[in-house]
Amino acid sequence: MSPLGSSVNRALRPDAQAFDEVRILTVPRYKTSGMSGDEWRISASIQFLHKGRIVHEASVRNVETACGFLMAEYYHALDEGKGYFAGEEDLCDQEGCREKATVTYRIKKEFSRDNPHEWNRELNEVRIRMFCARHSRRGDCAFDDADENYEILSGKIGDLEPKDVSPSVFGGVIKIAKEGT
Ligand SMILES: [Zn+2]
Repeated sequence: MSPLGSSVNRALRPDAQAFDEVRILTVPRYKTSGMSGDEWRISASIQFLHKGRIVHEASVRNVETACGFLMAEYYHALDEGKGYFAGEEDLCDQEGCREKATVTYRIKKEFSRDNPHEWNRELNEVRIRMFCARHSRRGDCAFDDADENYEILSGKIGDLEPKDVSPSVFGGVIKIAKEGT
C-alpha cells in the first residue's frame, strides 16, 4: 500500500521494463555418489530481477545453454506474471534505480503515448510517482514524466549529479560543412 493511503494509485514507472536486470551465474556444487564417486559439477542460473530482487530463476546446464535459453526464459517469466511495471513500495520510480524514494509527486494530467497533444485529460484521482533525490528532477521534454506535469506532495527536489548528464548527440547545433571548406 502507498504511504499516502489506499485511495492513492501508484503510476506505471516511466520507461518501465518487465525486469531491470538479468544475470547468468555459474553455480558449482559438490556431487556425492556412493556408486560413481564424488566430484565438483557446475550448472548455470538465469536470474531476472526488479530493483535488486530476484523474481524469477531457472537452472540450466551451463552459461552457453543459458545464453540460448535466455529469451525463452524471459517470456516464461512474463507468462507467469513476474514482469512488473508500476512503482514498487517506497522505491524510486526511475527505471534502473533501487534507492528509497524521498520525493512524492502527484501526476496532474494523463497523456496518450501516440497523440499527447490531443489525447490528454486532467487526473481527478490521486496517482503518484516517487523518486529519490538524485532522480527527482524529471526534465521538460516528456509529457507524462515531466516536471511540469507533477505537483510535489512531499520531499525536496535534489540536484542532478554531473555524471548522470549526457548531452544528446543531435540536441545542439548541427554544423553542416559546405563543399570546398
Ligand atoms: Zn532514483
